[in-house]
Amino acid sequence: MGQTITEKILAKHAGRGTVQAGENIWVHIDVLMTHDVCGPGTIGVFKEQFGANARVWDPDRVVIIPDHYIFTADSKAHRNVDILRTFVKEQGIRYYYDPDFIQGEGMPNPYKDPTRTKYKGVCHKALPEEGHVRPGEILLGTDSHTCTAGAFGQFATGIGNTDAGFVLGTGKLWLKVPATMKFVFHGQIPPYLTAKDLILAVIGEISVSGATYKAMYFAGEGIASLTLEDRMTLTNMAIEAGGKNGVCDVDEKTLQYVRHRSNRPDWEVVTNDPDAAFASVHEWDLAKLEPLVAKPHSPDNKDTARNCRDVRIDRAYIGSCTGGKITDMIFAAAILSGRQVCVPTFVVPGSTEVHSDMLRLNLHGEPKAAGEKSIMDVLKDAGCNVGPSGCAACLGGPADTFGRLNEPITCISTTNRNFPGRMGHRDAGVYLASPLTVAASALTGRITDPRDYVTEPIATGTAGLV
Ligand code: SF4
Repeated sequence: MGQTITEKILAKHAGRGTVQAGENIWVHIDVLMTHDVCGPGTIGVFKEQFGANARVWDPDRVVIIPDHYIFTADSKAHRNVDILRTFVKEQGIRYYYDPDFIQGEGMPNPYKDPTRTKYKGVCHKALPEEGHVRPGEILLGTDSHTCTAGAFGQFATGIGNTDAGFVLGTGKLWLKVPATMKFVFHGQIPPYLTAKDLILAVIGEISVSGATYKAMYFAGEGIASLTLEDRMTLTNMAIEAGGKNGVCDVDEKTLQYVRHRSNRPDWEVVTNDPDAAFASVHEWDLAKLEPLVAKPHSPDNKDTARNCRDVRIDRAYIGSCTGGKITDMIFAAAILSGRQVCVPTFVVPGSTEVHSDMLRLNLHGEPKAAGEKSIMDVLKDAGCNVGPSGCAACLGGPADTFGRLNEPITCISTTNRNFPGRMGHRDAGVYLASPLTVAASALTGRITDPRDYVTEPIATGTAGLV
């Protein structure tokens, strides 16, 4: 029997020819990522189990990206960053992206220039940007959305602090091989849909537990027609269906990006064997798929945007590792250009690179000419409130977090979770949607199908490429 991409990657990292879904194996890890929320706990486990003077297994394979609770006056949040700084210095960790503007107490002043700070923003966006994501590798991270990197043809998954503490000391982990479910999208992506609609369709069909401990493999002409960034939206939300990992085929878009960004040359592309076995196969025709939302309070509470047209919203939010990429900003700006939002609309770039590109690129994703509006100009002219890069209100965070839902209001958001309290107030209602649907809804104050505004393909140019 042939092997899937996931099985082949795990077999190789176990020093084996083949593995079977369901068996437990030791695998060697290529990269371990942690951040400001789980890093201190992981370091605590490492010190407790390996000793106060222990050294990490490879300081060049540990990547630390503070991103969650950055723009806050919360002293505990700042303390977490201090713990990371001390550990990085002590261990000689090379890849650490310091929020260098956090100095002392109180609300830090955001970076003035996104190109002149070591800080990067959301870890899942920064990992590929900074060259830590490669086909055929194993990436583990102390964050459930580490599965995002599967868009690049690798095995990427979230782990807890205890496992991460063990990986810090050994570079290995005991893993069960997941069986693979296959999700096929036929036809090209229409201009009114993004990958967010595709993944909401998947989760709405199989439920939030439908892929529990499974690899979710996304395939078909529809996936090939997505930008690399949009594939990240798909794999990002694999965990919302309970998936162990999400994975896409590697194509020329992937290769071009990784060749340009990777900080190591020694990686190889892994493909499914022709006779690979899948636990199940699910198929969609993109021509028949409508813009979707996930209603409160679960990502599988699927409905069409059109069915929800009577739902009034108090706020719109465009950001996070799911919906804060530069192509997400272009999708939103294409609808907002020359128009005015009628509800408070918060925009958070997923990374400082995204922030920089919002200033540098025009509405079509090309470097803007003199006198031409940038993506940032378009969004601000439409009345959006743009904050600094980071997780911001996606996870709620301290009460002073930018865009946080501090009252029981209704918000439409490009983020990935809408459980009670996820974005702040436990009685707030969050509708998850694509950046197109969120932007269209921000213009009307009620949930709006983007087909009311989008009639032609939206060019993204060079945005999100090398
Ligand atoms: S943006 Fe949201 S989902 Fe992504 S890592 Fe941050 S808190 Fe988690």
